[in-house]
Amino acid sequence: MDEVSQAGRAGLLAAHDKGIPVVIMEPLRGGKLVDLLPAEAKNLIASSPKKYSPAELAFRWLFDQPEVTCVLSGMNSLAMVEENCRIASDSEPGMLGEEDFALISKVKQIINSKIKVGCTGCGYCMPCPQGVDIPGAFKAYNAMYTESKFAGRFEYAQVVGLRKEKAFPSQCVACGKCEKHCPQGIHIIEELKKADKALRPLPFKIGIEAARRFILKTK
Ligand code: SF4
Ligand code: SF4
Repeated sequence: MDEVSQAGRAGLLAAHDKGIPVVIMEPLRGGKLVDLLPAEAKNLIASSPKKYSPAELAFRWLFDQPEVTCVLSGMNSLAMVEENCRIASDSEPGMLGEEDFALISKVKQIINSKIKVGCTGCGYCMPCPQGVDIPGAFKAYNAMYTESKFAGRFEYAQVVGLRKEKAFPSQCVACGKCEKHCPQGIHIIEELKKADKALRPLPFKIGIEAARRFILKTK
């Protein structure tokens, strides 16, 4: 899901080329690839021949890549520790076959079909002269539909709302610079308006403003 966001796989390969070990954090996207998977995706994984759990499928995708040095995973029970140890012990690079990648691709399609704006997070639209965090806003907007309303708004508050310099879509002056560079042809100006409206209803607006004041005062 995050192959092109932040450093992504290109970063993984570049680090490996330089002999730098890479440690994967949030391999299950904070549990979102497990608990918040759409039911259709959960059923598809459960009915696949290897009967992997969603967590196992995600871990094996990572362990399949020789450039990955270590995978960090939060565990809340002994059962999770045992499952993770079992998967790590019998995983090795190159173990996944065509049918596994086809399954992963279908799961990804299902998640993406819930997405509101087809932003890949490439960042070609950036920087915005008004300081708007365009990919950050779309990522949170999409999370409202692929995960939950609260998850999207929470991410928005954290990633966009609490920056030192304000980066809200409402700062957009419709100069159009970003739209000229978007390879996905997204109507960024319009979509940003919708995203901000959905992500920042009044109580969130007030909450984010209060949190900003408190955090910036204590810095
Ligand atoms: S149209 Fe809005 S978001 Fe895009 S670059 Fe201009 S000010 Fe920034
Ligand atoms: S250029 Fe388009 S796809 Fe890339 S981050 Fe900006 S809005 Fe998203």
